[in-house]
Amino acid sequence: MLEKVDDKAQSQPTDNATKPSATADNSGNEAQDRTDLANAFRLAEAFGFHEGICNHFSVKLDCAEERYLINPYGVHWSEMTGDKLLLIDGDGNVLSGEGMVEDSAKFIHIGGHRANVRHKALLHTHMPYATALTMVEGGKLEMTHQTAVKFHGRTEYQQNFGGLALSSEEGERLAKTAQDKQHIDITFLANHGIVVGGASVALAFDDLYYLERACRQQLFAMQTGLPLKFLPDDIVALTKEQIERDAVQFADEHFTALSRVIENNPGHRFNL
Ligand SMILES: [Zn+2]
Repeated sequence: MLEKVDDKAQSQPTDNATKPSATADNSGNEAQDRTDLANAFRLAEAFGFHEGICNHFSVKLDCAEERYLINPYGVHWSEMTGDKLLLIDGDGNVLSGEGMVEDSAKFIHIGGHRANVRHKALLHTHMPYATALTMVEGGKLEMTHQTAVKFHGRTEYQQNFGGLALSSEEGERLAKTAQDKQHIDITFLANHGIVVGGASVALAFDDLYYLERACRQQLFAMQTGLPLKFLPDDIVALTKEQIERDAVQFADEHFTALSRVIENNPGHRFNL
């Protein structure tokens, strides 16, 4: 059941959702970051990307100190509002907000943000179709559809699952990958799930949405039992260039539209 929400954005529906800060220069402020991140949580739940009260999204604030917004343990994504997000420091200490941060959230997110300064937003889910690809031998996103091409050259596959990420080990592995490969925005974690990083919540959520769609399309194709039909390299390169040309504006418009729907109709259910 959706709890009564009390943040301004939800209690006063408007025709135009607050414009998210989908800019590559990380401009913005904490209030906007809180609105964007809370919307991302509610949208992710409405799309079915969540898993119980697990998983976490975070945003690095644009300030001199190391500060992050992250979800408190035990709050369902459908009831997330800007004021429920925790403000934490670089050691994972809660500076404001009620609740605690899951250890795995600290390990994955703080390490990840530090390792790649481009990643203002980090989204970690076990969303079904992307996760399914982490559960089969050789599972990877193949260049067999234009949606998959969006992720060409930006995707990494971690092959080892070492148990629940309750130690800092997985966080350290992720951070090492992020540090060594600054172009990577999407990481598939074997037998586990995915992490998406972006220069804004809008960019990261746009990737999250299309990643799940791309994985679903591929899995449907694989279910036919017929061989996949791969795109030629030159077409992949051309399509990638076409997609990247308007990527920031597209993500901004997409996230604005989605935010408008979820703010005006908090109970709206989306089809993937
Ligand atoms: Zn996880």
